[in-house]
Amino acid sequence: MSAKAAVVTDTALLTLDLDALASNHAVLVAEAAGAEVAPAVKADGYGLSAPLVAGRLWDAGARSFYVARLSEGVALRRALGDRVATIYLLDGVTPGAAPAIEAAGLTPVLNSLPQVEAWNSHARGRTLDAALHIDTGMNRLGLRPEEAVVLTGAMDRLKFLNISLVVSHLACASQPDHPLNARQLARFTEAAALFPDARHSLANSGGIFLGPAYHFDQVRPGISLYGGGPLDAPDPRLKAVATLEAPILQTRVVPRGESIGYGATFTATQTTRVAILAVGYADGVPRAAHPRGAVWFDGARRPLLGRVSMDLIAVDVTDCDAARPGAMMQIVGPDLPVDDAAAAAGTTAYELLTRIAPRARRVIKGG
Ligand SMILES: *Cc1c(COP(=O)(O)O)cnc(C)c1O
Repeated sequence: MSAKAAVVTDTALLTLDLDALASNHAVLVAEAAGAEVAPAVKADGYGLSAPLVAGRLWDAGARSFYVARLSEGVALRRALGDRVATIYLLDGVTPGAAPAIEAAGLTPVLNSLPQVEAWNSHARGRTLDAALHIDTGMNRLGLRPEEAVVLTGAMDRLKFLNISLVVSHLACASQPDHPLNARQLARFTEAAALFPDARHSLANSGGIFLGPAYHFDQVRPGISLYGGGPLDAPDPRLKAVATLEAPILQTRVVPRGESIGYGATFTATQTTRVAILAVGYADGVPRAAHPRGAVWFDGARRPLLGRVSMDLIAVDVTDCDAARPGAMMQIVGPDLPVDDAAAAAGTTAYELLTRIAPRARRVIKGG
């Protein structure tokens, strides 16, 4: 990564604003009032660089992080170096992984009775730390509540384990009125009580904003740290952490009646000035951004015209004199919130951010 933000570039530019990240972290710390904030930095920090994100959040006080894959945990442990932190591994103890999990000092989130068995037998004769995931309605990972009851009735299965945390995950936290939220809260409250000595954690970003009843001892925000709203819509309290921009390669005037791009899906109904940008789906602009997508330039939204290509998009710059080759247009950022850009492409901030491709040049802003 380059250290300076002001660079002339011929490629898309992804700027990671670490001060905005810290600001969002502070918002979530205040909202979660008293609960530990344990950032989710899986998928390379939602595509924005887990080492950089975790490093800045460690400086801001975060001491627990969540990754999905073992490889992510190993890489994060290496990146944190001598900065002490708990790294929770959401995949848990996958077959054969126990030695590598221990070697990297990761805390597995045990998702099933076989995973409990695997970690307990790996620990034999010692005591190893673990989190326990109890499913409360997502039906993805986690023990069923009745399996957790079985476990507490057969404590020898946990003989060599210290269950320091019990977690569950909300399926509908971005929809506050969804009845599954209260149902999961009730099931979690009951299941967590089986492990009174452990800490308890239920809320992701959306869950934090469902209120204090959902906070327990620890919350696990991901998307809202990175600027995505907890309701899958922009939230004015949160700042854009990722800004994706791309330079204009060429402008042209398209006469009325001519089409633009593959499939000739857009035909100019009047003389139209068009800017061609050096960015496409190979950089992470969703192909589905056509026909509702736009970019931001010179104080206004500028609609995409025609299909997104691998390397190029076309944008309407009629009556915009500032549109000149080399000028940078914003695809996602402070003026074009990631939730809006995602919605225009029929997707979410999560998918948009994690799909920004390596070809976009990375730049860091803020300390
Ligand atoms: C990804 C994830 C989170 C973070 O979710 P956000 O919606 O991004 O805040 C929290 N908990 C679990 C188990 C996850 O998989």
